Amino acid sequence: MSTNCVFCKIISGDIPGHIVYQDDLVVAIEDINPQAPHHYLLVPKKHIATTLDLSEGDETWLGHLYLVAGNIAKEKGFAEEGFRVVNNCNAAAGQTVWHIHFHLLGGREMSWPPG
Ligand code: 5GP
Ligand code: ZN
Repeated sequence: MSTNCVFCKIISGDIPGHIVYQDDLVVAIEDINPQAPHHYLLVPKKHIATTLDLSEGDETWLGHLYLVAGNIAKEKGFAEEGFRVVNNCNAAAGQTVWHIHFHLLGGREMSWPPG
């Protein structure tokens, strides 16, 4: 828990978030500014700032998070058409919230390479 962190505050219930899934390790919330018809943020309950701050032992929730991403896509009905899981690490990649998270995007055609 980091006191200034918006995702820690959503996890603790201090500020509202539309939670679509949670368990002991991860929480999935609707993005406040969706970039696709389906846009969820997969967030570990443990506060870790960026991908570069991962350490041994984080494989557990990280692998689990990927399973959860696929399960949400199936449950919400956009798995078969295709979806994207994205992690932005540091400023040039577009990271704006310093609690590691993975975007789950689906429900529309997506171009490559990403902007
Ligand atoms: P990043 O730019 O760090 O990869 O992604 C941060 C994401 O968090 C953005 O897509 C942004 O819309 C979302 N976000 C920022 N603040 C909030 C918030 O208070 N609630 C929710 N649900 N999403 C947020
Ligand atoms: Zn946090």
